Amino acid sequence: MKTKKILAILLTLTLMGTLFIGCSKKDDNEKDNNTDTQTTANKSEEKELEGSLISEKPQTFSIFLNFNNMPFNPEWRVWQEIAKRTNISLEGVISQSNSNEEEAFNLMLSSGKLADIIGYKNGADLEKLGRDGGLIPLNDLIKEHAPHIQEMLNKDSKFKQAATSLDGNIYYIPKNHSLVSAEFWWIRGDWLDKLDLKVPTTVDELYTVLTAFRNEDPNGNNEKDEIPLFDRAGWKMPDEYLYLWDTSTEFYPRNGKMTFEPMEENFIIGVTNLVKWYKEGLIDPEILTRGAKSRDTLYSANIGGMTHDWSSTGNYNRRLGEQIPGFNNISIAPPANQNSEVVERTTLYPGVGWGISSQCKDPVTLIKFFDFMFTEEGSTLMNFGIENETYVVNSDGTKSYTDTVLNSELTPLGYLRSLGILYRIGMFEGVQYGNDLELQYALMTPEARDAAKLYNANKQWYRQDMPPYYDGELGLKYSSEDEAEYKKIMSEVRPYVDEMFQKWLLGASDFEKDYDRFIKELKNRGIERAIEINQKAYDTFLGK
Ligand code: CA
Repeated sequence: MKTKKILAILLTLTLMGTLFIGCSKKDDNEKDNNTDTQTTANKSEEKELEGSLISEKPQTFSIFLNFNNMPFNPEWRVWQEIAKRTNISLEGVISQSNSNEEEAFNLMLSSGKLADIIGYKNGADLEKLGRDGGLIPLNDLIKEHAPHIQEMLNKDSKFKQAATSLDGNIYYIPKNHSLVSAEFWWIRGDWLDKLDLKVPTTVDELYTVLTAFRNEDPNGNNEKDEIPLFDRAGWKMPDEYLYLWDTSTEFYPRNGKMTFEPMEENFIIGVTNLVKWYKEGLIDPEILTRGAKSRDTLYSANIGGMTHDWSSTGNYNRRLGEQIPGFNNISIAPPANQNSEVVERTTLYPGVGWGISSQCKDPVTLIKFFDFMFTEEGSTLMNFGIENETYVVNSDGTKSYTDTVLNSELTPLGYLRSLGILYRIGMFEGVQYGNDLELQYALMTPEARDAAKLYNANKQWYRQDMPPYYDGELGLKYSSEDEAEYKKIMSEVRPYVDEMFQKWLLGASDFEKDYDRFIKELKNRGIERAIEINQKAYDTFLGK
């Protein structure tokens, strides 16, 4: 049933796509003419506009955007300020009670009535909308009217890669980040102290530490109840621990060459070790089923030892400090793998931002508005808010958040978001002008700050020339043909790999005995062609 429903929606979308193409051809011609007149008009106007004004008269554009279940709200303090300074107001088209971004998006597409600005959680869907004629290519508009976006495209290849669709068009302006770190290794520092152990720096030392966690009762209740290694994403990403041996169940490029890691030497080492660790009780026996609450459950019961997770993991020190005296999660460097390399695979990449729909009457004004978000003034507004309300400028020129922000019950970040700051738009999240990273760190708890500082200070842990790597999957861009073929092959390969990996981990099948047959079966299912397609997409990413 569900599949049928999805198919019906897809069909509708495809039909809509055709409609957009039909309309957009005409629209494009009209738009070209419009654009020309507006360009001329705006150029002569530009000199007369005061301050940060983008339009001489107040203008309102409609916007489709919903971030973290927060539909765009024009009442937000910072957007009111932006409207005052630029003369551009936005009007959200998603009702404030809506919590289903996907449904709202599909509804807008099937209505055929597009908002002037469209942002969405999924970049591939936005690019598809662009190719179908629902979003306009921004390349020329940027060149002519958006010098700050152009500068970001010129100097940041990852930003450019995220922005550029395979057809060469830019359909949306991404959200960029100044920090590289996303997740961190967290270990119970109080358990290490209790057992007189040092922070593990290699995967072998990690084995020793986890074994001690398992056998020496660090929680002190005389029960062998500790779960040394766990992960709340284990159910969707069972291979996260394979990273410790520099491998995974996914594709991964090395020295310009695309590999499917299960076919490589590291995979044999990784799975052999992981099976052993699981058998010895070092890994959560319920890693594949415990689910998203794992972290809460295992920390609250004082039995979880180590995990790889977001900075919020540091918050448990405060949350559980009274209940579990001495509870102390610390962030540590990734343990070096069997080849003595320290590698962190999980990282932040430019994410989705916003684009301009083909039904927008005045794209020139909007691209200037988009550009404003990358100016020092716009960037400051979207990151730090309003002077003397959310931040102050100190005598040495640095900025600090006000106590209203830092002491907010919503958390500092939550408070800023409640004013519309740090929303999911095309912008640079962090300190775009100057290098006052301390200001960004000020939004974090001390534990999260330590983690972020440690990982951001060690950029050598992050491999270069890597495409985006979201939860293990490479964020490569494919042609429609390649994508269809690739998806078809992987719909055969993916479930088979997951099934076999689970069997090996849980001891239901013997890895060493199965391996040759496993590789043969991967080839039967077309893995070599899938590698070829990914190689091509990776070459495109590298600009070959
Ligand atoms: Ca115990």
